[in-house]
Amino acid sequence: MRIVQVLTTAPVNKIYDYLVPEGMELEAGDYVLAPLGPRAVPGVVWAAKDQTDPPSAKLKVLLEKYDLPSMSGEMRGFIDWVAKYNMAPCGSVLKMAVSVPQGLEAPKPLTGYVLAEETSFSPSAFLSRNPHLVGAKKILSDGLPRRLSELSREAGISSSSIKTLLKNQVIVAVDLFAKAPCASPDPDFQKLKLSPEQKSAALALMDCLKQKKFETFLLDGVTGAGKTEVYFEAIAEAIHSGKQSLVLLPEIALSNSFILRFKQRFGTTPALWHSSLTPAQRRVTWRGVVTGQTRVVVGARSALFLPYAALGLVVVDEEHDPAFKQEEGVFYNARDMAVMRGFQSKIPVVLSSATPSLETMQNVWDGRYTYLQLPDRFGGADKPDVKVVDLRVDKPERQHFISPVLKEALSKNLEQGQQSLLFLNRRGFAPLTLCRSCGHRMECPRCSAWLVEHKRTGKLQCHHCGFETRIPEKCPSCHDTASLVACGPGVERIAEEIKESFPDARVLILASDVTDTHEKLTKALESIQNGEIDIIIGTQIIAKGHHFPNLTCVGIVDADLGLSGGDLRATERSFQLLHQVAGRAGREALKGRVYLQTYNPEQRVMQMLAEDDRDQFLRAESAERQRAHMPPFSRLAAVIVSGANERQTAELAEQIGRGAPMVEGIRILGPAPAQMYRIRGKYRQRLLVQAEKNINLQKLMGEWLGAFKIPSAVRVQVDVDPQSFV
Ligand code: ADP
Ligand code: ZN
Repeated sequence: MRIVQVLTTAPVNKIYDYLVPEGMELEAGDYVLAPLGPRAVPGVVWAAKDQTDPPSAKLKVLLEKYDLPSMSGEMRGFIDWVAKYNMAPCGSVLKMAVSVPQGLEAPKPLTGYVLAEETSFSPSAFLSRNPHLVGAKKILSDGLPRRLSELSREAGISSSSIKTLLKNQVIVAVDLFAKAPCASPDPDFQKLKLSPEQKSAALALMDCLKQKKFETFLLDGVTGAGKTEVYFEAIAEAIHSGKQSLVLLPEIALSNSFILRFKQRFGTTPALWHSSLTPAQRRVTWRGVVTGQTRVVVGARSALFLPYAALGLVVVDEEHDPAFKQEEGVFYNARDMAVMRGFQSKIPVVLSSATPSLETMQNVWDGRYTYLQLPDRFGGADKPDVKVVDLRVDKPERQHFISPVLKEALSKNLEQGQQSLLFLNRRGFAPLTLCRSCGHRMECPRCSAWLVEHKRTGKLQCHHCGFETRIPEKCPSCHDTASLVACGPGVERIAEEIKESFPDARVLILASDVTDTHEKLTKALESIQNGEIDIIIGTQIIAKGHHFPNLTCVGIVDADLGLSGGDLRATERSFQLLHQVAGRAGREALKGRVYLQTYNPEQRVMQMLAEDDRDQFLRAESAERQRAHMPPFSRLAAVIVSGANERQTAELAEQIGRGAPMVEGIRILGPAPAQMYRIRGKYRQRLLVQAEKNINLQKLMGEWLGAFKIPSAVRVQVDVDPQSFV
C-alpha cells in the first residue's frame, strides 16, 4: 500500500495522510472520498508521500476515487495561496472549490432507446417471432431517443416486449444525461466590426492569450464605451484555442440583458454561477467546468473557485465593485484573488470599469498593470450635464426632500414625455422613528442600529439582522400615543412626495425589498423599457448596467449619504456610485441632465463629479492616502472579536491587543468597540493593524493570534485588506 497526503474539505488547516487501497491508482489532484472521524468527506490528493517509515497503524484507508479529471497543479497552488493570504484554513478554501459534493459522483445515467443500425440484425427472421417491431420502428424512426415508459406508451407495447427488442439488438440504449452548459459557443457567431480603439485593446488581450503569459489589464472606459465587446473578442480567442473563460460580475449585474448579449454574440447562453442556481444546475455546471466541457462561465465571485480544467482568461467586470469582497466564512477579495489565479495559470486577467478603484489605478501608474482605454461612448452620445444643487440655498419644503430646482426639472421632463430617475440608496420609508414626546429612538433589540420604517408592509425592520416588528401605536418608552415620527427619507417616502407633487406621474420604486425576485425585477425593468414609467425611484440596484434610452434626468436625492462614517474608501465609493448613477442619464440621442443634491457643495466628490474629472479625483485621492499612509501605500488587516458575552469579548480583545507584536513598521489601533457594536446579539470589538508593505503581515499575525487560546464562545476573525470598517 502507498500513502498519500489528502486535503479534505473539513474546515481545518491540515493535510492528512491516508493509505491507498489495493488497486486504486492515484496521482496528485485526484478527487477522493476520505474517512475523517465518524464521517466521510471529499478531498483532493495534495501530494504523494515518500514512504520511508512503515505506516502508522492509525492511518485510515481512502474510501473511493472519483472518476474525474484531476485538479490542476495551478488550482492547487491557488488554493494554498488563497488560504495563506487570507489566513483561512486550507480545507475551507478547498470547500469553495468542491462546493457541490454531489458533482463528484457520476450522474446516474438516464437511459433512452434508439433504433440499432440496420445491419446488426436480420429483420425478416426476427419479425416472424416479434410483431412489436413494426410499431417501435415507426416511432423511433425520427432518430430521437425515448425513455422506456415513453416508448411503451407511444408504440403501444409492453416494457417486456421492449426488453426483448433490446436483447435482440433491434434497439439500443443511450445515455440521455443533460449536456454540460455552454459546451459549444460559437466564437464567430456574430462578430461586430470594432472601432479602432476597441480593436487595439482586443488585440492586446488576444496577443497575451496566444503567448500564454500572465498579464493584468485595466480596461477603462465610460459605460457604453464598448468594453464588453472588447473582452468578448478575447473570449472568442480563448474558445478558438480550446480554453475556458470566466467572467466575474457583481451578483446584481448578472442580468438577463447581459446573458442575452452573450447569446447574440456567441449563439448560446453562458454557464451561470450564482447564489440562486438549483442543486441540479450547480451539479451539471460544476462537472462541466471540471471536465472542461463548459467553455464560458459568467458568475458572481464564488465562480472564481471552480476547478477549471483549462482556464485561459479571467475577466472581472465592474472591478471596483465592493461586492467582490466576501465578508463571511473565508474573507477574500475576488478581484485580487482573480489576479493571483491568472498569475498561477499564466493567463491574462482583465479588470474592466468605468470608475476603476484607486488600487487598480495605482497599479497602472506604477507600471504593474497594462492600461487599455476606450474613449467616449460607443456611438458618441454626449456626456450628461451635472449640476450641483446646494440644499442650504435651494431648500426643499419642510419634511420634503426634493429641491425646487430638481422638482422643476422633473416637471419639464414629464411634459416632454421623457423618463427621470431619483436615486437614494436607502430602502423603506424612513431610516429612523423617533418619539416626539420623550426622544426615544426605535432601535433593533439585537443590533446597534435603528429600525427602518417600511410603510408598504407596516413594519419597522432592522437592515442588519432582519428583525421585524409592527409599527407601534404608542411610544414603547413613554406610552404617549401618536407621538412617533419618521425622520429622514427612504425611497418609499420620496415616492410619496413625488405622488403629491405629480399625481399623474407613473412612479416605480426599484429596491431589493420591493423587486425581491428575479421575475419582479425583470418585469420592472421591462416596464421602464416599454415607457410605462415616468419617474423611477431607486436604490443602488438601478446603478448598474441598465440602459434606458428615454431616461434623460437623474436626481441624486442625498449625495452626502455615502460620505458619512469613518470608511477609508467613503469618498472613492461615493464617487463611483454617483458617477455610475449619473451615467444612466442620456444614454442615446437625448442629452442627459444630472442634479446632485448636497449640503457640501465644496466637497471634492461633488466638484469632480460636476467637472467629470475622474482622473483628477483619483490623483487627489491617491495623494491623500499617501499622506495618511493608508492602502495602497500600506497594508491593513482587521481583527474582529465577537461574542454574546460582552465582558468576555472585551477581555479577549484586550488580551489580544496587549499581546500585539512590537515590530517596526507595524501600528496597531484598538481594540475598540466596533461602530456596529452589536449585530444579532453579538458584541464586537475591532483591532486594526497597519503595516509597511514590505512586512509579511500574514506570518506576523499568524504568530501573534496563534498564541491565544480562544474560548469557544468567542470568535476571532481576521480580515486581510478590509473593505468594511464597521
Ligand atoms: P461597456 O461595456 O463599456 O458599457 P458595451 O460593450 O456594453 O459598453 O457597449 C455599449 C453598446 O454599444 C452595446 O449596446 C454594444 O452592443 C454596442 N457596441 C459596442 N461596440 C460596438 C461595435 N463595435 N459595433 C456595434 N455596436 C457596438
Ligand atoms: Zn438587528
